[in-house]
Formats: sequence, C-alpha cells, structure tokens
Amino acid sequence: MQGGGRTGARPALAAALVLGVAALLVVVLRTPWDVLPAPAGGRTVPDPTAGLDADQVARAEAFAAALRPASLLSLLLGLVVSALLGLTRLGSGLLRAVGDRVGGRWWAQVLLGVPALLLAGRLVTLPVSAYAEVVRHRYGLSTRSWGLWLRDVVVSLAISAALTALVVLAVLWLIRRAPRTWWAWSGVAAVGLVVVGSFLYPVVIEPAFNRFESLPAGELRSDVFALAEENGTPVRDVLVSDASRRTTALNAYVSGFGSTRRVVLYDTLLDRLPDEEIESIVAHELGHVATDDVLTGTLMGALGAGAATALAGWLLSWGPLLRRAGADSPGDPRVVPLVLFLVTVGGLVGTPVQNVVSRQIEARADVQALDLTRDPEAFIAMQRRLASTNLGDPDPPTAWHWFFGSHPTVAQRIAMAEDWQRLEDQR
Ligand SMILES: [Zn+2]
Repeated sequence: MQGGGRTGARPALAAALVLGVAALLVVVLRTPWDVLPAPAGGRTVPDPTAGLDADQVARAEAFAAALRPASLLSLLLGLVVSALLGLTRLGSGLLRAVGDRVGGRWWAQVLLGVPALLLAGRLVTLPVSAYAEVVRHRYGLSTRSWGLWLRDVVVSLAISAALTALVVLAVLWLIRRAPRTWWAWSGVAAVGLVVVGSFLYPVVIEPAFNRFESLPAGELRSDVFALAEENGTPVRDVLVSDASRRTTALNAYVSGFGSTRRVVLYDTLLDRLPDEEIESIVAHELGHVATDDVLTGTLMGALGAGAATALAGWLLSWGPLLRRAGADSPGDPRVVPLVLFLVTVGGLVGTPVQNVVSRQIEARADVQALDLTRDPEAFIAMQRRLASTNLGDPDPPTAWHWFFGSHPTVAQRIAMAEDWQRLEDQR
C-alpha cells in the first residue's frame, strides 16, 4: 500500500480489523445457535417434500428452476457492470459527462453522477427483472400490472439514487475536509445511518409502496391482541398491508424498533387462512418482538457498516486502485464509481453472513411461536399452506440455501415443529 502515513491508511486498516472482529464476535455471541434441544431418539430428519403432494412439489421446483438462473444472472450482471464502471475509466467518464453539463463542480458531478451510474446498472439488469416478473405472472404469484411494476422500479431506483447520492456527497465532503481521518467520521456516520434508517424504514420507505390499515375489529383482532398480551409484548396495533395489489403470496413481518415497531400482515392472509393458522404466523412475529430481533439485526449491520467503511478508507488510500478508476486522490469525484463498486462487493460478501444469522433468528421465532400457541398442528398446516401458495421450494439446493436462504427451509421448519411436539410428549 502506498502513502500509508500521509492518508491515514494504517489506522484505517487497524480500525477495520478491530471493528470486523467486534462484528464477528457480536454475531457469534448474539446469534441463537441452538434454539431447541434434541428430543430423546435424535432430531427428526426433514422430509424433503415437507408433506406436500407430488404436484405441489413439482410446481414449486419448476418455479424455482425458472427463477434461480435469473437471480444469479442479475447478481452477476450487477457485479460486472459495477466492476466495469468502478475499475475502469468508464464510470468516471460517465460521471464527468453528466457533471460537465452543469459546470463540472465536484458536488454537481456527485449529485448527478450517482443517479446516472445507478441508472446504468439498473438498465442492464432490467430485462432480467422483467423476465422474473413474467415467470411470477405465469405461475399466478404476481398480480401486478406492468404499469405498477414499472412504477415500483422507478420509485425504488429514485429512492436509492437520492439516498446514495446524498451519502456519497457527505463522504466526499469529509474526504476533502479531513483527508486523514474521513474514514473514521464516515464510519461513525455509517453506524448512525444504519440505526436511523432501520428505525425510520417503516414510516418513510414502506408507505412509498404500500398502504396500511389496522386489522379490522373482530374475533381475529381480539385473539391476536390476547396472544400479544400473553407473550408479554403488548402491541398498540396490528397492521394489514395492501399486498394483494402486487402478489398472491402469503406473508407477515415485523419492522422498525422502539416507537416505529409494527407487526404487519399481508391482506392476502385474511380471507384465505383459518384463524388458528394466522395466529401461528402472528405468534412467530411476536417471537421477533419478544427478543427485539430487528434491533439485534440493526446493531450487527451497524457494526458491519462501520468496519466496511474503515476498510474502504484503507482501500481508497491505495494509489494503483485509484488510478485504475481514473481518480487522482480519494477526494476526486471520479472515485465515486469505485466507491459504488466497493459497496456492491461489500453487499455480496455480507449476504451469506446476514442469512446465516437470519436463519437462526427465524428458527428461534418459530420455537417462540410454538411455545406461545402450543399448536404445532396449525403451525405445520400454515407452513405447508405458505409453501404451496408462495411456491416455496421445500428443499432447495444446499449451496443456494446457504447463500440466499433467510429462513430455514419449509422441510426444516416442519421437522422442528415435530421435534417440539416430541419434546412435549417426552416431558
Ligand atoms: Zn420471521
């Protein structure tokens, strides 16, 4: 590495290592690795069909087989485009071309260049996204009109372009103001941004895509509130989103923490599932609430973001890498495509780590749901219904599941519910 002392490369690397180890420690210590003891006689071996009939399994597998190549291609294309823009002078050329139209000031290059770079990347992956939407339509999973699809693409891109442009602008400003210590300030800001972002997400970003209403008064609502009370996690409200505008899929989730925390049910659940199955779903979400899983995930993400920023501070002090991107110094706006490439690589590396943790947290929420409802039959019926409606492959390829799987497989979730019942029987 060149120019270490002058640009603060060594402290950046040291901070990246310390924060990286800290993030790893938090992941190792805070992830619930063992959520249910093995019953006498050993754990149930997951049934790869998850108890679905042969037609349902075949349909889910065909759907997955049609989508997996598209997901991989999209990932690969995104990486290649980002590398082409960030590791050659293509990206800095594009940045200057748009920036020069407005006078070529550094901040104008950033504010216009970032959206232009993200747009270029999105246009390349757009045909793949459209193909995936065709597949979802063909299998009856998407109810989105093409107008709404396009609107979603544009709104997502606009939000990410605006936020990314502002963040990159702030980083460049810091680099120019504090060339030696910018990465430390940016690291602190990254930690803060992840926390604030996760807190505000349900009130700022989610309403850009969905409308939310309170779960209507009735037996289900009173049962859900009673369940929350029993769980020791009383809720002010349970929301229903208008998911059916886009999909027939069944789902629910928790987002936010503190005063923005909410349990959201897809409206697709309401007419099609018996109450006890909806209660199993809500109980799983209440499990997340009980252990404050959104906050745990946010804090792990924040530490990871801090470590990644320090690492970027080290990498951006490396002359040959900067010159490859056509930049003279880290404060040169032509560095932006390289920064976006590093973010893409960071996201890719972070995905499997995030999913390893997520699968364990989801398994714990399943156990909490079973402890709360004490109704493994409804839980298993719900898992099967979700798998058959959402066309979830009950037993995806191991490598795929390791990288992309945010939840245990349906086969594993059902096997765990059976183990929960066996443990009860052995008591
Ligand atoms: Zn969950």
